[in-house]
Amino acid sequence: MYLKSIELAGFKSFAKKSELNFTSKISAIVGPNGSGKSNVAEAFSFVLGEQSIKSLRGKKGEDLIWNGSNDTPRANRASVKIVFDNSSKFLPIDYETVTIERVVHRDSVNEYIINGSQVRLRDVVELLASAHIGSSGHHIISQGEADRILNANIKERKSMIEDALGLKMYQYKKQESERKLIKTRENIAQTQSLRREIMPHIRFLKKQVEKVQKTIELRDDLQNQALEYCRREDEYIKQTTKRIDEEKSPLLTKEKELIKELNEAKAVLEGAKHRDATSEELITLEQDLHKTRDEKDNLFREVGKLDGEISSLVRMVKKQEELAFSLEHKTITLVSVETLSTQIETKIKEAKKIGDIETLLKTLDEVGELLSRFIDKNKSKVDMSLLTEAQKDIENLKESKKQIEESLGKIKNKESELSFQYTALQNKIEKEKDSNRDAEKAVFRVMAESQEVRSKLHTLAVEEETLRLIREDFKRELTELGMLLGTHILQFQSLSFDFNEPRNVQEERRRKIEKIKIRLEDAGGAGETDVLKEYTEVSERDAFLEKELADLEKSAESLTELITDLDLRLSTEFKNGVDKINIQFKEYFAVMFGGGEAKLNVVKPEKKNNIDESVLFNDESELDFAGGTDGKAEGYDGIDIEVNLPKKKIKGLMMLSGGERALTSIALLFAISQVNPPPFIVLDETDAALDEANSKKYSDMIENLSKYSQLILITHNRETMSRAGILYGVTMGMGGSSKLLSVAFEEAVTIAK
Ligand code: ATP
Repeated sequence: MYLKSIELAGFKSFAKKSELNFTSKISAIVGPNGSGKSNVAEAFSFVLGEQSIKSLRGKKGEDLIWNGSNDTPRANRASVKIVFDNSSKFLPIDYETVTIERVVHRDSVNEYIINGSQVRLRDVVELLASAHIGSSGHHIISQGEADRILNANIKERKSMIEDALGLKMYQYKKQESERKLIKTRENIAQTQSLRREIMPHIRFLKKQVEKVQKTIELRDDLQNQALEYCRREDEYIKQTTKRIDEEKSPLLTKEKELIKELNEAKAVLEGAKHRDATSEELITLEQDLHKTRDEKDNLFREVGKLDGEISSLVRMVKKQEELAFSLEHKTITLVSVETLSTQIETKIKEAKKIGDIETLLKTLDEVGELLSRFIDKNKSKVDMSLLTEAQKDIENLKESKKQIEESLGKIKNKESELSFQYTALQNKIEKEKDSNRDAEKAVFRVMAESQEVRSKLHTLAVEEETLRLIREDFKRELTELGMLLGTHILQFQSLSFDFNEPRNVQEERRRKIEKIKIRLEDAGGAGETDVLKEYTEVSERDAFLEKELADLEKSAESLTELITDLDLRLSTEFKNGVDKINIQFKEYFAVMFGGGEAKLNVVKPEKKNNIDESVLFNDESELDFAGGTDGKAEGYDGIDIEVNLPKKKIKGLMMLSGGERALTSIALLFAISQVNPPPFIVLDETDAALDEANSKKYSDMIENLSKYSQLILITHNRETMSRAGILYGVTMGMGGSSKLLSVAFEEAVTIAK
């Protein structure tokens, strides 16, 4: 036995908590009209998830809550709790006992609880569907609804049979898959539309990106070329500067040397201008020498003369000495003679002046006297003084000679000195003449060499100027490249190349760089990162959409496959189920009518539509399969019932009597229940329309059916009550609330009345 108990609290007429335990295969609920029996049957529907308030005889959720009476205030909530013994695991949940509870509040909010945990309606429905306790309520036949299956249209009938056959699970799965498929297709359409929308933008961005990529390629190319160019240019400038410096340095030294040399030579030549002075000095010297030599000669002559005089005086002294002692050789001094002569001449002159004879005569006398006196004087006189004088003179002369000889010595010294100076000067002049010649030669040579050095320096200066321009150009180029490529360009310094490259290759490189720059300028570079970012974002979005589309299509495909599988399974199991039901239906029908035939026919629609979009299941949808228009018109599969009463030519359901309808529907219900027995069946006065004979047959069938399912029977029928193992009486007191009591058979019969 699966069903253990049901507990009602605040549900409809059950103001107080009331519990029914189903310890028997067949339980009967009995009681007078209006006591609340049907409320118990409805409690089953309610707790199992019935969504149609109408089928619970209400207009809104509130109608299901105890409304209050004089002695019992109205309740805020209605709750029904059903307890299953799940030791057989007929419910796919790992609990020995499963309690399902539903609560409805006055604001119509419903709560579903499985084993104390709040769940969704869907969880309850799915859990029950797997145990053939479907929401179509085929196992809860409410009062007056015994022939519901006969009254239903073919589509509803099919749904009820599917439910009874336990195919609802597949139905739900199919509906769920269909719902998902529709959603997936919507998503596919939406995704496709999104992709279509962004496609022109992507195409536009792609073109932009191609341009940007071209710019990036150009810039990369420029960067590579520029790095090499800068490295080589820098190296070229350094090397050329070094080479020029190296070449210039010795030239400058040389130039300095040459200037010095030239100055020296010039100085020498300048010195030549003073040669005249030197010459004059030489001439002076020469003149002095001449003069000195003349002086020397004079002195020589003087000496000679003095020598002669001395010799003559010596000879004269000798003679005088001889004469001093001989008259003959008496010596009269010239001076004395001259003095005499002078005296005579003076006398003569004076006489002449006067000019008279007397005077002349007198003068002659005087002259004669003078002469006589002179002779006399000199005859007697041995004049030694002359000798002494002469010797004195000799001495004087010797002295003079000595002095002259001294002077001569001096003069000789002077001469030799002058002669030395002269020779020295002469040598100097000769030497100077040689120096000048050398200097002149040097000037010519230096001039020639200077010319060469200057020419080389000039060439280097031209090179320097060219290099300066190259350096300035390079500086400017570096700034420009920095602006185009950023500081990365400065990394050129760390590169190394083979620098033995001809200069024209570098110039060619520069031209190439210029061309790239122009192309870059033409391409324009603004907003590059934005374009790339946007393109990346948009294409990532597109890729995402593409992947999503692929995923969606894949899932649509697998959903379609699943639906096809489910359809196949549904149709196969449905067909097999209907065949099995037909076997039982035929038997039960024959038992009920003592013969005849009944059969379910699957009615094929004219136009098949696999996707039943109108009955999509979700938490919001009402799980009400009743109602609606004839399914045939909508082109759905359906179930038609064919009856063939014994001894009557009645074939249509419409032509059956009320009792016949009840018997047919009971036969069908029992057939269905036997083929796929639900854990329990609630039958609310299904036996109401039966006469005594049929009540007996009904009760027999009940007993048979109880082998497969637990039965809860609400009944007034004594025969039915007699088959129940447990009996509950429902009474309603003055307060209008239902009360439950376990009763014995006889008591039940009384209560039922
Ligand atoms: P019958 O044998 O005639 O079919 P029954 O025993 O099945 O009668 P029910 O139809 O189950 O009787 O009970 C109906 C009773 O429940 C009515 O008296 C009605 O007033 C009462 N009832 C229904 N809803 C509520 C409610 N919300 N609050 C209080 N009482 C309610």
